[in-house]
Amino acid sequence: MSRSAHPAGPRHADVLPEGHYSAPAADLNALDEKVWSRTVTRDADGALTVGGIAVARLAEEFGTPAYFLDESDFRARCRAWADAFGPAADVFYAGKAFLSRAIVRWLKEEGLNLDVCSGGELTTALDAGMPAERIAFHGNNKTVAEIERAVEAGVGRIVLDSFQEIVRVAHIAQRHGVRQRVQIRVTVGVEAHTHEFIATAHEDQKFGIALADGQAAEAVRRALSLDGLDLIGVHSHIGSQIFDMAGFEVSARRVVQLLAEIRDEHGVELPEIDLGGGLGIAYTSDDDPREPHEIAKALSDIVTRECESAKLRTPRISVEPGRAIVGPTAFTLYEVGTIKPLEGLRTYVSVDGGMSDNIRTALYDAEYSVALVSRTSDAEPMLVRVVGKHCESGDIVVKDAFLPADLAPGDLIAVPATGAYCRSMASNYNHALRPPVVAVRDGEARVIVRRETEEDLLRLDVG
Ligand SMILES: *Cc1c(COP(=O)(O)O)cnc(C)c1O
Repeated sequence: MSRSAHPAGPRHADVLPEGHYSAPAADLNALDEKVWSRTVTRDADGALTVGGIAVARLAEEFGTPAYFLDESDFRARCRAWADAFGPAADVFYAGKAFLSRAIVRWLKEEGLNLDVCSGGELTTALDAGMPAERIAFHGNNKTVAEIERAVEAGVGRIVLDSFQEIVRVAHIAQRHGVRQRVQIRVTVGVEAHTHEFIATAHEDQKFGIALADGQAAEAVRRALSLDGLDLIGVHSHIGSQIFDMAGFEVSARRVVQLLAEIRDEHGVELPEIDLGGGLGIAYTSDDDPREPHEIAKALSDIVTRECESAKLRTPRISVEPGRAIVGPTAFTLYEVGTIKPLEGLRTYVSVDGGMSDNIRTALYDAEYSVALVSRTSDAEPMLVRVVGKHCESGDIVVKDAFLPADLAPGDLIAVPATGAYCRSMASNYNHALRPPVVAVRDGEARVIVRRETEEDLLRLDVG
């Protein structure tokens, strides 16, 4: 590949390729610490290392594509969240972001609680020894069998999502002779995504019970009237990948108003509120996420202020970060295959995975960064689109990014910040074998979820 055939980017406005990309970083070899996990660095040979192990060795031992999870970073983030919120609040890790038995054990050891939203997640949590009272069970359509199991296991809370579920959980609890601790999920009319939030008209969704038209107040009335339920609070989750605290502010204010109305009507002050998850992380250098202590302070200030003005005792707060804990702790390692330069446009770089290991780009137009990690390079930057090997032109991993123009088949590239919603949303499209998750810590690498095999595929296909 000659450099002239791979321009650093568009040379004329009329060939400006579509897409969202900033100018290439001054040094493509530099690793922005915002998007890489904490122990990632380059060794003397220029290869990326994580937990002290170079990617070439990881690729050789575990193959590609694979997710490498920085265990000490994961644990540090758990502790940062727990410390930031302190003993007067509870941090629930949202298991859907990524869950495995090793993750459950780490959460348990680091003092976090766990959100699950399916029988499968509940099984994983219990099997790995998470105490049931530290588990919250979510979901807009929990089956009767799932509710039975959650109640039998004695989960700390079930988050009620509909009027039908209020009755269903009450009956099941009564049948088991228990009072199940529950929260009611309300939709506060706020939807937040990344830098924006919209404060009206978002009751139009499958989750929760609307505050606006008195539905939530009615749900509280019913829950308080049923013997099988111990209503401990109200829950609100407003979106995902949020940077702006304004949406949480509106949400917290509306939830506290509801608590005040409940006190006025029923004479009870519900002891807890849950403000959900959704805190954003850096996928590219353009993102500026907040630290857990800033988030904790902002949320507790809002709640304290609103409670003072409503003359309420400040409830115990819980939060449910998923992405913000696990997202930044892993990267996906790929081997470069076919490279297709399109003069004046961009260069398509195909990797040995794709939408089966990272559906977020295709699904949400998510932005990611990418780096050449098996070596450094002084070549000029070239505008690339990193694509997978699936039979879909939408099979894009990184839509627009810069890689060195001397990139060649066999190079290893890595996409950082893939710890959340990548392995957990992975598929077998094209009978792809879902990649392993390898935990790396202090010079040791250990598979925590193994790579799927062709035997796994055939085992499910019973002929
Ligand atoms: C998805 C979800 C979360 C976690 O969201 P993140 O964006 O991963 O922080 C928390 N709570 C509820 C109810 C959710 O549905």
